[in-house]
Amino acid sequence: MGTVSEIQSTSSHPTSGKLNWLTASVFALFHIGAVAALFNFTWTRFWVAFAIYWFAISWGIGMGYHRLLTHRGYKSPLWFERFLAICGSLSLEGGPIFWVATHRVHHQKSDQPGDPHSPRDGAWWAHLLWMVTGEAKHSDTKGLAKYAPDLARDPFMVWLNNWHWLPLTTLGLILLAFGGWQMVLWGVFLRVTIGLHATWLVNSATHMWGSQRFEAGDDSRNNWWVALLTFGEGWHNNHHAHPVSARHGLAWYELDVTYLQLKALEKIGVISKVQEATVDGYIPVRKAA
Ligand SMILES: [Zn+2]
Ligand SMILES: [Zn+2]
Repeated sequence: MGTVSEIQSTSSHPTSGKLNWLTASVFALFHIGAVAALFNFTWTRFWVAFAIYWFAISWGIGMGYHRLLTHRGYKSPLWFERFLAICGSLSLEGGPIFWVATHRVHHQKSDQPGDPHSPRDGAWWAHLLWMVTGEAKHSDTKGLAKYAPDLARDPFMVWLNNWHWLPLTTLGLILLAFGGWQMVLWGVFLRVTIGLHATWLVNSATHMWGSQRFEAGDDSRNNWWVALLTFGEGWHNNHHAHPVSARHGLAWYELDVTYLQLKALEKIGVISKVQEATVDGYIPVRKAA
């Protein structure tokens, strides 16, 4: 059984981990499916894949796993929090407790020994190798729970953490029924693969390339093209300087689609108390990790 402390120790010795065959095989299979999708292009499949990508990455990861579950950057009713967590699971980035625990450790130790994915241990290590070497920790709900005790109290989150692949499998079967296997290649395999790389670029590229507005004590950068791919997560130096802020793009030219959606949801009363840093350094009140 792996624990988060093993995540930390692994990153101090990035080359010593052994290959995790399950994770490596799943990643390989999804890349093969992604290439196969390119030979089966139609505009319908493209737009279906794009819509699911938007829900999985902007709603699921950006609004859900990251800005709400990890950093509590706004207040949400439980039903909406759980809905966002299901959207997040569609990205195949693990369950909410795994994702949140790993990301909280990243903020605590950013680019220092113990950071699960720092480019100081190698760009490819930070991008994906940290997941394919060493123990699989995605389902070690107990070991991870100490870094996300708030989530571990919700039986739904514990269930989703253990069965994080189930919503994606269900979606795949629905796509198969309505659009055939070519639709599955687009809506699941290609879409998941692009989403994985987009998110991984936040761990690799935005700790290497881009500008630094704030002295955040780490290598985090603001990177416009990663922000475009991830609906706003690429303004990563802003984010490391102000983790609780649900707004990552702080200047008017820093497009942050996820934040704009949060403001719209606040306006219609679904969520409240959206925490916002400002470009001149206002820091919202820290309420969680
Ligand atoms: Zn970071
Ligand atoms: Zn964060």
